[in-house]
Amino acid sequence: MQPLQVYSVVPKLPPKLKGLWELAYNCWFAWNTEISELFAQVDQKLWRECEGNPVGFLNRLPQRTLEALAADQFFLDRVGELQRSLSAYLAKKTISIPFPEGENKEPAIAYFSFEYGLSKALPIYSGGLGILAGDHLKSASDLCVPLVAVGFAYQQGYFRQYLSPDGWQQERYPIYDFEQMPMTPATGEDGKRLLVSVDLKGERVQAQIWKVAVGRVSLYLMDTNIAENPPHFKQITTRLYGGNLEMRLWQEILLGIGGIKLLDILGFKPKVIHMNEGHSAFAGLERIRRFMEGSGLTFEAAAELVASSSIFTTHTPVPAGNDRFPPDLMQPYFEDYARKLGLAWKVFLALGREDPRNDAEPFCMTVLALRLSRISNGVSILHGFVSRNMWKRVWPQYPVEDVPIGAVTNGVHAPTWVAPDLAQLFDRYMGSNWREDPDCTRVFDQVEAISDAELWRTHERLRERLIDFVRRKLHDQLLARGAKRKELQMAEEVLDPQALTIGFGRRFATYKRATLLLSDQERLIKILSESPKPVQFIFAGKAHPHDNEGKKYIQQLVQMCGTPECRYSMVFLEDYDMEVASYMYQGCDVWLNNPRRPLEACGTSGMKAMMNGVLNFSTLDGWWAEAWRSDNSLGWAIGQGEEYEDQQYQDFVESQMLYNVLENEIIPTFYDRGHGNLPRGWIKKMKESIRVLGPWFSSHRMVEDYAKVAYGPAIENYNRLVKDDFAAAKDLAQWRMEMMTKWSSLMIRDVRAAQPQQIYVGEPILVSAEISLNGIRPQDVRVEVYSGPVDFEGKFVQRETTIMQPGERTDDGWQRFTGEVMPIEAGRFGYTVRILPHHPLLLDSHSLGLIKWADPQ
Ligand SMILES: *Cc1c(COP(=O)(O)O)cnc(C)c1O
Repeated sequence: MQPLQVYSVVPKLPPKLKGLWELAYNCWFAWNTEISELFAQVDQKLWRECEGNPVGFLNRLPQRTLEALAADQFFLDRVGELQRSLSAYLAKKTISIPFPEGENKEPAIAYFSFEYGLSKALPIYSGGLGILAGDHLKSASDLCVPLVAVGFAYQQGYFRQYLSPDGWQQERYPIYDFEQMPMTPATGEDGKRLLVSVDLKGERVQAQIWKVAVGRVSLYLMDTNIAENPPHFKQITTRLYGGNLEMRLWQEILLGIGGIKLLDILGFKPKVIHMNEGHSAFAGLERIRRFMEGSGLTFEAAAELVASSSIFTTHTPVPAGNDRFPPDLMQPYFEDYARKLGLAWKVFLALGREDPRNDAEPFCMTVLALRLSRISNGVSILHGFVSRNMWKRVWPQYPVEDVPIGAVTNGVHAPTWVAPDLAQLFDRYMGSNWREDPDCTRVFDQVEAISDAELWRTHERLRERLIDFVRRKLHDQLLARGAKRKELQMAEEVLDPQALTIGFGRRFATYKRATLLLSDQERLIKILSESPKPVQFIFAGKAHPHDNEGKKYIQQLVQMCGTPECRYSMVFLEDYDMEVASYMYQGCDVWLNNPRRPLEACGTSGMKAMMNGVLNFSTLDGWWAEAWRSDNSLGWAIGQGEEYEDQQYQDFVESQMLYNVLENEIIPTFYDRGHGNLPRGWIKKMKESIRVLGPWFSSHRMVEDYAKVAYGPAIENYNRLVKDDFAAAKDLAQWRMEMMTKWSSLMIRDVRAAQPQQIYVGEPILVSAEISLNGIRPQDVRVEVYSGPVDFEGKFVQRETTIMQPGERTDDGWQRFTGEVMPIEAGRFGYTVRILPHHPLLLDSHSLGLIKWADPQ
């Protein structure tokens, strides 16, 4: 029996407490812990039950508690204070980083992501990708970057993890009630809920829109779980990364196409879109369709405009991790759509293919995103390099260094992740502007001044708090598994608040090698039990529900944790989420990370640990490859950044290195205690790592980088292209077509250097070549000398490009170009000549995929 109608019954709110709701409905609470502390202090037990969700908490407070609070002047003053801080924060409008003039009034940037990790209270994330998106929004808010974001409200979130008694991962899917969460329905002027709809194979799917306030930034979430939809479509936003390939396609159509419609319905007119991972790449197509329909542009002109104002961030260095849809699956969903774009079906599919001519190739979202964005990037320097190699087939004939995928290294939002106790210490020594000041290098230099004793005491208190949390959580875990009293008692005694504590928390993807530490169990046990220098490990992490290998890793770890030798010094915590993660990042001494290089695109957990003075110990992959210093002054490395063919051998070698560094460096440094029992050498590293790495691996720096290399240029490009009824976009498209047709007739001859064979270091070489432009104007091309040292196979090991200047014409109408290059070291040196298309409005001359190399002579 189902009721006819369902209401949400909320408590009758005393008017004096209105401010509490304001605080609860802005995710600002996620990085202003005084707010969560205020809530917790009202009722610790209920607060814990509500898992950090202030809206659910307030709605469940008994009416008499509310009335008591309304009569408590001290409490009301506190609420008033916090409410004023929030209002002051929201009132600030001036952007704190360089940004195009006058562009910060309306959200000029729309950010798209499948997941967002903002707080435990909003379980619409699974891991790194989502947390990164969350931190991006928080920093955008702090810096007043005009950004609006789009995503999904997943009714069952990701999954909640618990373990069977034999250590096998089980998944639980609680159903979340959005009415009880920090989000509100977006409504129209008539007060009715706004809906956005997309077409799936001729059927209409509708989604309700929820708004989440993230400081000054608004995040809009689509939710298909509404009465208007048939059951199969309700599933679209049920689970994050659930369902089969077709479900994934539905989700991506809704995110990309629905997302653009949503922005329009809400009245936003963003100039630029930023796609966080390829899931939202259909947004580019929908923008093109709209420019064609609304402004009468050709596909080419619209595509030029859209690509010039789109930014794509790729995150996945494993080919299998990139979404690919077979053409047969695509066809019923996109055949009509292709027609609207004026594209033959094959041409449409080519947009998502590395090789446009290969009919067997599936449609890849990453390729689509790369083709529809002029600014693309990986998420660390190493990952940029890996991505250029991975996607070089999209730009055939290009040397891999020229593949137009750059790198913006991820960062984390310090105010979210730094423990409140430590934040207070930062406030005292650096001033409170470490939270919002983007120029934080200067601010972070003050870390040096923090008293060793004070920093260490704070850190020890955080370790103690972590251990307290572990014991409580372990107790609950065991209770839920039906453990005996003796076991429960044991949970209260696990770990030692004084011992060197090493944390390992992450997704249990196999490349992260969670069990590397178990390679030599005897040696591990010896390390654990070496008195008087005990070491202990805390593990946590989820495996994807279909990843049995990952689940086996968990089981192996859990079994090890249960052995008599490890029982008190190794624990596995269930259900790794933002809360478990926070305790670990804040209370461990060492953060261990041992992915198989180069499969960790960036990794951010180590940055969050670093912000808390936790020292990193990691393979040189992702961010650590650019952060680690060879003198170990900021933390330790496993290996030197080698890559191996033989994985088993690699695991063996790297596990040995892991034990060696632990035994010879980490443990001795930690236990080298001086006056007052302070490990001075260790504290020095803590400070040095916060001081040097803190400002750089902050999401403020990351957002500032995006503003500089992506948002700013893309906005300016957009403005130039739309001016005078899209004159420049039309021009550029015209020019591009012309280049495409004429390019193959370009010819290069007579490439030569003015010097004899023997040349000297530091002496310029004058290179010349004759070019037949065949109707292309000299200003439409850039002729370059491509030069550098050459290895014994005759390949360039490095290269430099020098623009050549047009000179006189030959009798038969060829144009001579000349340019100078300079070998700066002795050895084999080579050069060649190439031509690229050139247009002042083209953000990137490689994006057309046109290039002409001098033929080998
Ligand atoms: C930061 C974070 C991650 C990502 O960590 P990696 O280092 O990228 O593995 C995953 N889950 C949670 C809860 C996090 O806070």
